[in-house]
Order: sequence, then structure tokens, then C-alpha cells
Amino acid sequence: MTVGAGGKDAALGADADGPTDENARTRPMPDGVERLFSGYRQFREHLYPGLARLYDQLAQGQAPKVMVIACADSRVSPSMIFSAGPGELFTVRNVANLVPPCEAGGLYHGTSAALEFAVTALAIEHIVVFGHAQCGGIAACLAAHEGLPAGQFITPWVDLAAPARDEVVAARPDLTPEALQYEVELMSIRHSLRNLATFPFVQEAEGARRLTLHGAWFSVASGELHWLDRRTGAFSVVADSE
Ligand SMILES: [Zn+2]
Repeated sequence: MTVGAGGKDAALGADADGPTDENARTRPMPDGVERLFSGYRQFREHLYPGLARLYDQLAQGQAPKVMVIACADSRVSPSMIFSAGPGELFTVRNVANLVPPCEAGGLYHGTSAALEFAVTALAIEHIVVFGHAQCGGIAACLAAHEGLPAGQFITPWVDLAAPARDEVVAARPDLTPEALQYEVELMSIRHSLRNLATFPFVQEAEGARRLTLHGAWFSVASGELHWLDRRTGAFSVVADSE
């Protein structure tokens, strides 16, 4: 989810998935659906010719090694940030990049269905819970705590992050609103990793060392990636060069 409108041009530029042609990035774009057709034509002209053989191979099936659970926020495209091409990232995006616990009840477990397919059918080797700064979903979870529900569907969904929120609020009552939002964004990633481990097929694959779970957080303002050390629970910036 996006908090605030931001610059229109910047938002359009940041919204594209995957590798982007330099001319395409700097060319002025029309609004709305015309923007989609224009972007598609650029894809067909500049990107598709170099990827045609790969797409033809991928028509036989996908074999990604990495699953990313990211936010629906338009500023945080996993394909762009990880420079990933077609077939590389099995991605599920939802409000606030949350993973629910394994639950038998209910019908519409979209994230759990994607997770099940990734682990049991695709034999994914890595799952990354990928959070980000200024997350509107986390802001909604914090607002609900103040008696300000965000919406009929948003409020119960972001309540998944309530244990993370409450843990931070209890441990750090002195935080500014900005610092609280940041700490809950990080804590929610750790909490989603704990929820991931409640799925029996995740437990089994992790136990057999076929699957590794990761947490990451993206700074929208600086473009920097922060990676979770699961032994210490701390996040640190990924170096720009090896
Ligand atoms: Zn978000």
C-alpha cells in the first residue's frame, strides 16, 4: 500500500517490473491505461526480442529457486530491486507482506496457497519475507491500535501484524511515531518468519535443509536493502559491491 501520492513521474518510473530500457525510463509517459499500452509496446520492442528464447523455454514450465513475499506497494517491486528476469522469482504480494499462520479454517488463503505451491510443487529453496519503509499496511495496523480502523478488509488483514506491533510497543514505549513504524516493519518480518514455520511442509523442507527462510527490508528513500541475520535478529545493509 502507498502512503501519500508522491510525485507522479517518480511513481511511474518506480512502478515497472524487471529490467528497464534506458530510453523507456526517461521517455515521458501518458497516464492510465494508455501508460500500460505504451509500456507494453516498449517491452515488445526493446526487451522481448532478447528474451524470446527464454520465454519459449519457460512455456514448458517454471523452476524458480526463490520465493518472495512482498508488499503490494507500487514502490517496492522485487523484480526490479533484485534485477530478476522472467522465471526467477516466484512472488506473492499482499498488503504489508504478511504471512498468516497455518490455519485449517476459512476458504480464501491466497498467500498460504502460493506458499504451498512454492514449497511442495516447485521445491523452492529460499523464501524471502520482503518488507519496506513507509508501509501503509503497517501504518494501518498502528492506526487500528489507536482506534482508527482502515477498512472492512484491511483492518482484519493487518491485524496479523498486531503481535509484532504489541511487542514493539511494550518493549519501546518511548519511540517517536516514525521510529515505531520502522521498528514494527522490522518486527513484522520476524513475526511472519515465525508464522512461516507453522506450516508443516515448510517445517519438513527446512528440517531436510532443502529450504532456507530469510527476512529483508527496503528503504524507499535510499534504495538500500537491509538483510536479516536470523541468528541475531538484527538487520544490516547489504553492501553495494562484493
Ligand atoms: Zn507496504
